[in-house]
Amino acid sequence: MSSLHPDSRVVHLPKPVLNGSTPISVPIYQTSGFVFDDPAVFADGMGRPDGAYVYGRLSNPTVRSLEEAVAGLEGGVAAVATGSGMGAINSVLLGLLKPGDHVIAQAALYGGTAHMLADLTARFGVEVTYVPEADPAAVRAAVRPSTRLLYLETIANPMTQVADLPGMCAAAREAGIVSVVDNTFASPILCRPIEHGADIVVHSATKYLSGHTDVIGGVAVFASAELHRKVWSYALELGATADPFAAWLTLRGLQTLSLRMERHCANTRLLATRLAGHPAVTAVHWPGLPSHPSYELAGKLMPDFGGVFSFDLAGGRAAGEAFMRNVRLALLAPSLGGVETLILHPATTSHRSVDAAGLAAAGIGEGTIRVAVGIEHPEDLWADFAQALAGTE
Ligand SMILES: *Cc1c(COP(=O)(O)O)cnc(C)c1O
Repeated sequence: MSSLHPDSRVVHLPKPVLNGSTPISVPIYQTSGFVFDDPAVFADGMGRPDGAYVYGRLSNPTVRSLEEAVAGLEGGVAAVATGSGMGAINSVLLGLLKPGDHVIAQAALYGGTAHMLADLTARFGVEVTYVPEADPAAVRAAVRPSTRLLYLETIANPMTQVADLPGMCAAAREAGIVSVVDNTFASPILCRPIEHGADIVVHSATKYLSGHTDVIGGVAVFASAELHRKVWSYALELGATADPFAAWLTLRGLQTLSLRMERHCANTRLLATRLAGHPAVTAVHWPGLPSHPSYELAGKLMPDFGGVFSFDLAGGRAAGEAFMRNVRLALLAPSLGGVETLILHPATTSHRSVDAAGLAAAGIGEGTIRVAVGIEHPEDLWADFAQALAGTE
């Protein structure tokens, strides 16, 4: 299996073996627990992430299949599937940190993660130093004896900065710090952070992995069995582990991940390129464009650059609000990574609690639109954007 391309691996999922045959697709094991003939096997299963199935919060065959599939795609040794992306992220943070520990994190972070780090600081005395996402020297300068963790995102939202994974993870490794990378925006089709030195990869499976806007889920993948075991035991204490139906929906979506990513990327390239030449648009932020500050680095890490981008309207906030009113095919909604094109206006939605200075520091304008590009026909999307833009001038 490990010699296959990711495109083939997503199709051929790990499946439970029955009596001499295996099902073609992964079944839903909708059971909360398992019965045993042998009490010794029962006892053994309780204490290990890879023992016999005992109780659904510890493990389940459908969930295990998802864990093995994503671990394989990411090049890790094992994974923990969780009830949401935040479930994966928080199982990692809480499983590895204790009061007084220090974390180095990139400044541009998913909102939920930033809130959790702030909470850990306020309630548990965890200290956090924020650094730029492509500055290994800043990591080296920030390291203290209490530093435990470096936290990065392959591609950040909504300005799509790309982290210098090899440089940043190497700096963490030199200092003996565990590096964690949120790979949600890239998916393992575009980037596998463990290949670049990461110890743990986290995903919101709600997004590209499942891909159909119908499930909330998460996965954490580990480069070492020791880290896996630590986080697995914390995830089940928290009750963060995935349920079999959500895992099954994610597995079903995963089989077309490679095909979907190809179309997400191609559609994004067309929209981003045309918007960059449109008079109502002052800037387009996508690492596949030479004008993006991460263009060169992204080209070294990824074969293509994902389905999320943002652009700035010349007409500021009024134009942003008009664009949101004018679109017909694109949907006004949060989230990303599904088959439908979704747009949002960060200044009035995802970043509404950030003040003008904070928005400016993050590079987000009053007229910035964030687009999560779907798999519709690109010309239909362009026609919709073009007519929506006409109403902003
Ligand atoms: C959505 C998202 C999360 C959180 O995932 P949930 O499934 O909503 O809990 C974390 N990181 C990134 C980059 C995301 O886009």
